[in-house]
Amino acid sequence: MSKQQGTIGVTTENIFPVIKKFLYSDHEIFLRELVSNAIDATQKLKTLSSFGEFKGETGDLRVEVKIDKENGTLTVSDHGIGMTADDIDKYINQIAFSGAEEFLAKYKDTANSIIGHFGLGFYSAFMVAKKVEIRSLSYKDGAKGIKWECDGSPVYSMEEIDKPTRGTDIVLYIDDENRKFLEQGEIDMLLKKYCRFLPVPVVSGKEQEWKDGKMVDTDRDNVVNNTEPTWTKKPAELTDKDYLNFYHELYPGQEDPLFWIHLNVDYPFTLTGILFFPKIRNNFEVTKNRIQLYCNQVYVTDSVEGVVPEFMMLLQGVIDSPDIPLNVSRSYLQADSAVKKISGYITKKVASRLEEIFKNDRPDFEKKWDDIKIFIEYGMLTDQKFCDSAMKFALLKDTQEKYFTLDEYKALVEGNQTDKDGNIVYLYSNDATAQYPYIKEAVDRGYDVLLMDGQLDSHFIGLLESKLEKTRFVRVDSGSLDNLIPKSDKSTENVDLTPAERDMLTAIFRQQTPKVEKAEFVVSFEALNPDANPVLLTQNEYMRRMKEMATMNPGMAFYSELPDSYNMIVNTRSSVVERVRQEANEKLMPILRPMNEQIESKNAEIESIRKEAGEKTSEEQNKRIERLNEEITHERHAYDKAVGEYVSGTKLAKQAIDLALLANGLLRGQNLSEFIHRSVELL
Ligand code: ADP
Repeated sequence: MSKQQGTIGVTTENIFPVIKKFLYSDHEIFLRELVSNAIDATQKLKTLSSFGEFKGETGDLRVEVKIDKENGTLTVSDHGIGMTADDIDKYINQIAFSGAEEFLAKYKDTANSIIGHFGLGFYSAFMVAKKVEIRSLSYKDGAKGIKWECDGSPVYSMEEIDKPTRGTDIVLYIDDENRKFLEQGEIDMLLKKYCRFLPVPVVSGKEQEWKDGKMVDTDRDNVVNNTEPTWTKKPAELTDKDYLNFYHELYPGQEDPLFWIHLNVDYPFTLTGILFFPKIRNNFEVTKNRIQLYCNQVYVTDSVEGVVPEFMMLLQGVIDSPDIPLNVSRSYLQADSAVKKISGYITKKVASRLEEIFKNDRPDFEKKWDDIKIFIEYGMLTDQKFCDSAMKFALLKDTQEKYFTLDEYKALVEGNQTDKDGNIVYLYSNDATAQYPYIKEAVDRGYDVLLMDGQLDSHFIGLLESKLEKTRFVRVDSGSLDNLIPKSDKSTENVDLTPAERDMLTAIFRQQTPKVEKAEFVVSFEALNPDANPVLLTQNEYMRRMKEMATMNPGMAFYSELPDSYNMIVNTRSSVVERVRQEANEKLMPILRPMNEQIESKNAEIESIRKEAGEKTSEEQNKRIERLNEEITHERHAYDKAVGEYVSGTKLAKQAIDLALLANGLLRGQNLSEFIHRSVELL
């Protein structure tokens, strides 16, 4: 064959400048493309040989990536099937491609996409080379060596050459802007990224060793890849150690994973891979890019959004599938039905593996629960299907460190913690230390208290309330136990106090509550158990949930600005409160009574003026009402003052309040030291 010239069969004249311009950012993938072509050619030869279609010696089949700095070339060589002149014409010269420019313009952001998708892999060489040569010798009998050459214009030349060895060399004359690809370090880095698990040995440079204080080349070829990564093997042939070794190969320097799932399907799509459960605990940040996607052992990407469900992003590992249309844009990927199936499959597989561990080794599952809980809750919150399966093995942990499935827990508390309306009340704590007194009181009553202190627990509670019938979650410190699980219609608010007593006691307790930063107290009375504490602080469940949500949601910042509001419940059946009441009735009430009478009579007068006037009060009447109101205010001041003078000489109520504050960690600084002082005095 004499030297031949021709025009490359793309419809647009200037495909190369277009490639260069639009695909600029993804330059480095040229190496992945060329090496995978070399691997494909090698695999094809192996296949032909195994079918007896190729009868010669296959010989050493390694792929080599070689830098020649002097000549400015980077060469990818293989000993695969090679190409004849006809092959080159067919596969290289006539790129089946129409409207290239228009297409590229449309997808300019996803260089990756276009390249493999349209069989442009080889042409990506022009992103970094001013000239590319193909030197090839086909495996076919009587084939002649062939050299193809192109300088980036759509004109190529092709001629016969003498090539003694079978296979293909792709020689890239690296252009000036891309000289970094002539550095062994750069090439090593790229090969490590893209070619780490390719199925044919890839060599580049020499192995290095430490000698005389520096790293020097040895004479051994440096093989960059592990040709049989663990996920390609059969699970039955693998030990735990193999999985752990593979994990550490992927993620050096990390703690052992908790467990793993070996994925292996061949119908209706092909997919293999291994997913690892790392320790996540509570330091939950959205850690992405931990799963790597491969296509027949060629690394493609580590951004797997759309391919795996979102909550799986917390996992690590590899997924390998020739069926994921990797070379398309992300939105296309997400809409792809094969991808949807894959995502569904992975979810199912992960759920069934978790269930299997749960069933086969419950103690081990419980031991790992605290670490995997955030993953499972995240999954249940974001993936309906996963949630349905996980209802079987999701665990609840109580403050005694016991674990229950949802069904088990229901059975445990149903009898004792069902309120008068038939709702099962799940008591929980989100801080076992801070809420210890409440937990203790509940447990002493025979109730169980769950520990819900995880980062997603407040959301998870919401989910469970929507899933479990007639079930309410209440934080153990959000009310008195009699109110949290009301057993009869007899309300604890039916306290035996006259209105005057109620006013007096309210003033006594309110006046003695110390100022606490970012906290507000509202005094109320309940007839609780006589053994319960005289004073109890509780926080409204609804307000607290709002504030919790506000910390995660900037749109609700208003709530997080509010001070914490506490109910100060005074237990009227406590003997301490009874003493406070009796004493005050004796010593304070006689002083307050005339004031109360004054206030009452003035209020009555206002009332009667209003009644008499009907729709519209006269100016004179208005003046009178105003005067009366002033007098009432004055009387109230005197009332408060009298209470203040009285309480300055008493200690009991103050002590009861401080004890309640202490139980909630709210007694600090000066308040705390006064309390200690008073306690010593009382002793
Ligand atoms: P794709 O690999 O996506 O088909 P490429 O542009 O990378 O597109 O390659 C086009 C074709 O050229 C390949 O399908 C293959 O037939 C042939 N080819 C490329 N590189 C080699 C090689 N190293 N050895 C043999 N054939 C090759």
